[in-house]
Amino acid sequence: MFRSAVIRLTSWYILILMSISLLFSLTIYNVTTAEIRDRLSDLQVKLEQRGLGSVVIPKPNFFTSFEQDQYSSAERSIFLTLLYVNLIILSGGGALCHILARRSMASIERAHEAQSRFTSDASHEMRTPLAAMKAELEVALRAKKLTMSEMREILESNLEEVDKLASMSQTLLHLSRLDYVNLDIKRIDMHKTTAEIIQKYDKNANRIHIDLPQSPLYIQGNQASIDELITILVDNALKYSTERTKINATLMKKGKNILFVISNEGKNIPADKLPHIFKRFYRVDASRNTQGTGLGLALAKEIVNLHGGNITASSTPGKRTIFTVSLPAKKK
Ligand code: ATP
Ligand code: MG
Repeated sequence: MFRSAVIRLTSWYILILMSISLLFSLTIYNVTTAEIRDRLSDLQVKLEQRGLGSVVIPKPNFFTSFEQDQYSSAERSIFLTLLYVNLIILSGGGALCHILARRSMASIERAHEAQSRFTSDASHEMRTPLAAMKAELEVALRAKKLTMSEMREILESNLEEVDKLASMSQTLLHLSRLDYVNLDIKRIDMHKTTAEIIQKYDKNANRIHIDLPQSPLYIQGNQASIDELITILVDNALKYSTERTKINATLMKKGKNILFVISNEGKNIPADKLPHIFKRFYRVDASRNTQGTGLGLALAKEIVNLHGGNITASSTPGKRTIFTVSLPAKKK
């Protein structure tokens, strides 16, 4: 599909290029041959006036045979030069047009590939909770008698799956709509944003220790997306750390960037899995007993990229798992 599109695009580029080139060549040919004819006529008149010229022959046989030869050979040489130039433009330009067409199609092809991969991933991920719900409902319908508590258990399990599907579709929608151009961009007080989100998620447990600088730190961005970014990281730190362990969150300025660093104890992310955690639907422990859709960090990365920043993770066995977000500070 993309091969034929590249060929079609190349043909259009060549057609446009050659139309312009031929138009120019035709103009150059007409102008130069007319100019040569005029110059030869002038010369003829001058020679006539001096009494050195031969008999004046009216047009088209206005010139002497010598001048006619000169004119014809000049005409031929202009024609051949223009022909060669056009052939060079056709071969060189053709190759260039092909490269250009491939380049223009490459980004579309990549986007198309990502879109189809995303669609197949999404439908695959949706199939699992749907299949679980279906199986539970079928078993319940086949059972002759169901106690109230068994029914409740099935409904609760189904509700859990529905919640998961709802959260997944919401995140997917958010991911597909993330576009910096359409976002409402303004100055964000990172100090206030971080403190508010951490307070909301760590209401009574006091598990998160926040280290905030004295002076406020500002970035330029979309408030809702930055709230989401901090929420994803705080949620993960709480979810993947063992209870009663401390979580450290730090906000600081480093050079021209604002850094948000959050670290937690708990099960480490193995080194071979670390490069994959920002991919959509990737979960280190994919078993059903850990909650999650594997979309949180993918969304976090997308948000950070949209703001021209960077997000990294490190996790060493026996030490802490650290997520570092770096966002460009707002210029004064
Ligand atoms: P979701 O956030 O969509 O509900 P999720 O938490 O499984 O689901 P991500 O936030 O993208 O998905 O995280 C991907 C994986 O990275 C998680 O499944 C988890 O294994 C690992 N992970 C993420 N954050 C941490 C952390 N702070 N400590 C240890 N492991 C983590
Ligand atoms: Mg998560």
